[in-house]
Amino acid sequence: MTSLGALTDPGGLLGVLNRCSGPSVTSVTSSITHVEHIAWRPGRPAGWPGWVPPTVRAAFDGAGIDRPWSHQVEAAELAHSGRDVVVATGTASGKSLAYQLPALTAVSANSRSCVLYLAPTKALAADQLESLESLGMAGLRPAAYDGDSPMVERDWARAHANWVLTNPDMLHRGMLPAHARWARVLRRLKYVVVDECHAYRGVFGSHVALVLRRLIRLARMYGSDPVFILASATSADPASSAGRLIGRPVQAITQDGAPRPGADFVFWEPAVVQGDSGSGGAPVRRSAAAEAARLMADMVADGARTLTFVRSRHGAEQTALSARRRLADIAPELIETVAAYRGGYLPEERRELERALDSGELMGVASTNALELGVDIAGLDVAILAGYPGTLASMWQQAGRAGRRADTGRRALVVFVARDDPLDTYLVHHPETVFGRPVETAIIDPTNPFILGPHLACAAAERHLGEADLGLFGGPAIKPILQDLLDRRVLRARPSGYFWAEPGHPADRVDLRGGGGGQVAIVDQETARLLGTVDLHRAPAAVHAGAVHLHRGESYVVQDLDLQAGVALVRPERPDWTTIARSASTVSISRSAEHRERDHRGGVRVGIGPVEVTEQVVGYLRRRPDGELIDVIGLDMPRHTLHTRAIWYTVTLDALLGAGIAEARVPGALHAAEHAAIGLLPLFAGCDRWDIGGLSTALHADTGDPTVIVYDGYPGGAGFADRGHEMLGDWLGAVRDAVATCPCAAGCPSCVQSPKCGNGNQPLDKDGAVTVLSTVLAALAPMELAAAH
Ligand SMILES: [Zn+2]
Ligand SMILES: [Zn+2]
Repeated sequence: MTSLGALTDPGGLLGVLNRCSGPSVTSVTSSITHVEHIAWRPGRPAGWPGWVPPTVRAAFDGAGIDRPWSHQVEAAELAHSGRDVVVATGTASGKSLAYQLPALTAVSANSRSCVLYLAPTKALAADQLESLESLGMAGLRPAAYDGDSPMVERDWARAHANWVLTNPDMLHRGMLPAHARWARVLRRLKYVVVDECHAYRGVFGSHVALVLRRLIRLARMYGSDPVFILASATSADPASSAGRLIGRPVQAITQDGAPRPGADFVFWEPAVVQGDSGSGGAPVRRSAAAEAARLMADMVADGARTLTFVRSRHGAEQTALSARRRLADIAPELIETVAAYRGGYLPEERRELERALDSGELMGVASTNALELGVDIAGLDVAILAGYPGTLASMWQQAGRAGRRADTGRRALVVFVARDDPLDTYLVHHPETVFGRPVETAIIDPTNPFILGPHLACAAAERHLGEADLGLFGGPAIKPILQDLLDRRVLRARPSGYFWAEPGHPADRVDLRGGGGGQVAIVDQETARLLGTVDLHRAPAAVHAGAVHLHRGESYVVQDLDLQAGVALVRPERPDWTTIARSASTVSISRSAEHRERDHRGGVRVGIGPVEVTEQVVGYLRRRPDGELIDVIGLDMPRHTLHTRAIWYTVTLDALLGAGIAEARVPGALHAAEHAAIGLLPLFAGCDRWDIGGLSTALHADTGDPTVIVYDGYPGGAGFADRGHEMLGDWLGAVRDAVATCPCAAGCPSCVQSPKCGNGNQPLDKDGAVTVLSTVLAALAPMELAAAH
């Protein structure tokens, strides 16, 4: 904890913040839980590699880059020498130059050479295209190939481009299935750039890993052997994450040579709202968005240019509106300088925003994560993060929007405003999990049969799979999956290999963001526009009739869900409530070969392995934004079963009684421990709390004991449960800490309550949860000590 009184910057931005934390509309004040002073760091420039031709150097000269930074040259050297490399350095450290150097050199040496660039977002691809075009290098013919490109541009890209900018979805659905039409590019492919590769995690990451293996196979077939250059946020072990993604060894460059601007990073916990209460009379904190709006208004009133990140577009509008309301009281002349960002992903839209912020026409902007990447605003003073954006990588991206240029003099300010949930609350009280810790390792599992099977089918449809191809997709381990495809007559075996047995290509049926096992299309009934898809097994809880559905920050209400037809019809609406499905579920633990269970002392067992989750959505709750319950509406939905993987622990009833938990309290204690564990697993596994599920029971039929289960919410699993199992001691230690130190009396959204509880947060026993967790941790400790010796 840092006392602000001790800081020597009373007139600076921290001083403004200090005044904000004083008595406010609530009688209990919001508080600063931590201030991290990030020192300014000078850059380490390096010389241009000798192999960079004058045309490329001239192009960078023209763009105002006179010397590269050390990490850019190190990565470029490796790639130029033919080695796959990942450059994992800080936000805004100029990773583009690291791949542009070798790739532009290749194009400059022979303009028939080709580069394929993959970005996880259209905004990033659009930025990269703009920056390449601005280089004005002779012989360079970049083109975007995405869902929005007009047909004539796509034709041009296929026929002429030597630098194709696309995304994994277009590669999967557009380029690979029609590889013959891309033969020119595939034959001359020198480099594949995978930008922001830490974004490829979980189910999406597993899909992308397989799409890249399909690309590697086809490139080989056309006679090329491209070098991969990956760019990543700093992470724990970028070489192995990148290696898992492309399926072969990758060297990592991690020493950041770029200068870093100085900043003060403040953790902010909103006040508890007095006289108000949420579920079960629990205390409720002021919302992160309301708090962020208040801070933005005060910053703007002090002359600081401020960018605030919130979750949804609607939230951004609300935040801008409340900031303007506050400015009406404190600095009415500035009201018009605060707005919500309504633009899309096009660079021109963001350039316009940058211009308005530069000129002072705009002083405060509330935005979704659309502005996380690709905004370059000199002199942006403050970034406010209303809630944890889901990953540490995103958190640093958003924070990095403040003070991007080292030469502006004034120290930037970043304020992370915690939402009222266990993860945000844990973070504001444990700054060590953010500072001095690399971002989470991207968990992927390209061996998941539910994901691998469909990609084997896609690969076979692109060209029959020979024995030699199998190594690329996992070797002998994939034989059972191939057999299953043969049994289902998806593939046909012939002497020369495995052939796709149907007409067309299966890519359209494989959604890279889906977990396999079927999709439900979400369609706007007014425009008949397809908004997206949701996995079949998630549809009953996510898009039941009456559900409020958020899509790219816009809100819709589901009018009808037809599971048979695989369609959910929605209508744009902004109701004054949110919906949460209620469901009844059971989990059975399968005794397969992959099942592993281990006894610890003190009546504790820990297991990992396949499970079968059966869930039935029985209704939903409607709540006001402040948490007030409006009503409960019943639904009649079919049961569905999910085959996935889970981590579980059991504690015998005797051990629980011995620890002081009376039998009647056991269900509430386990349930509370389960909720908090789900709330914090994202910190260790890089998933979202909606990617995982859980169940707790005082007596589980398969274990015979009181049991807590946390499972992956995708067929075949996504690797999150396995990561939880690996990190069990750290994970449950954080969970116990979060629950034990929460100042509430009997459980609140910051510790053991869950917004997605199928049982409406009943029963919950906060103290009991601490006891359960302490019992499990005590049982784990000797083993971990033994393992360390
Ligand atoms: Zn609490
Ligand atoms: Zn629950």
